[in-house]
Amino acid sequence: MKVKSVFVKSPFDYELRSVELPALKADEALVEVIACGICGYDMEISACLSPDGYTALGHEYVGVVREVGGAVDNVKPGDRVTAESSTFCGVCDDCRNERVDLCRHLKTSSNGYAQGFAEMTVVPAKSLVACNDIDPLTAVLSEPAGVSFDLVKTAEVQITDDVLIVGMGPIGFMALQIARKISAGRVAVVDRHENRRQMALDSGADAAYASLEDMPAEETFGKILLTAVPQLLPACIQRARYGGFIAFLGSNFKDGNTVPLDTGMIHFNRLQLRSSFASPATFFPWVHKLMRAGVIDGSKIVTGVYTLSNFKEAFDKLRNDKDHAMKVVVVNDNSGIKERK
Ligand SMILES: [Zn+2]
Ligand SMILES: [Zn+2]
Repeated sequence: MKVKSVFVKSPFDYELRSVELPALKADEALVEVIACGICGYDMEISACLSPDGYTALGHEYVGVVREVGGAVDNVKPGDRVTAESSTFCGVCDDCRNERVDLCRHLKTSSNGYAQGFAEMTVVPAKSLVACNDIDPLTAVLSEPAGVSFDLVKTAEVQITDDVLIVGMGPIGFMALQIARKISAGRVAVVDRHENRRQMALDSGADAAYASLEDMPAEETFGKILLTAVPQLLPACIQRARYGGFIAFLGSNFKDGNTVPLDTGMIHFNRLQLRSSFASPATFFPWVHKLMRAGVIDGSKIVTGVYTLSNFKEAFDKLRNDKDHAMKVVVVNDNSGIKERK
């Protein structure tokens, strides 16, 4: 079967190709994509991470199972599903020792021919989690919501914590929604884009600042979540209260990841610096629960919807208008979901 699929070669050279899908293996499923979100990582691939050849794109998608291989029993044709970008193996020593999050024998849903920005894709059925009762424009956030969930969990946000979240991209924004639900303390955010600050305030943030330097000097936080470039770590450490945790994620693909840290401050203030890396993707059932409860709500996060035929406009929007674009989603031409530019 031939399907349309988006490929990119950096910098920003996109092609919509017609590709032949391989025959289904016993443990795989054929999924018709409904919608796929553009991730910051897709933008990094577009900018610089695929200089030598074209790569198929898209790991944040929701779709409908159309066919399954003979050994598949966790999903069936007709199920609405989201796909983990990578899934733990279940049989390695780490998996057996209760640490599936450390598994390095990952089953990945990436393939070379068609992923989320395509009409259809073939994926290991093990990576699929059904979500029949969740609106596709919310379910499409499952993968990044799992990343936000891991960040909040890594920081061990508790009911009385004052929380600072630095960076209001989709990951930071959903971390805000989760942390706001957990904590009765003060929740503040930092983002240089005015519109994103306003969205954070509308979603329950107590304060929103354009930069860490803009905050009153005396403000400190028990839990700090950094979703912007690691160059902001030193300034985040200055904002931690005694015994505070700083959890961070993300890399700076352009300027490197080496930053100077005041280790005396970390030691004498008993701070904990923790990294969050949601690979394998986990927590889909829990983020689905948060979606059903309205804690994560696509209508507040998805700021643009474009059809697959207009996918380039979608990528351009995210690249050129960070102030107004939070999560931009590409939907299949026949999904029935209206474009919203
Ligand atoms: Zn992503
Ligand atoms: Zn494993």
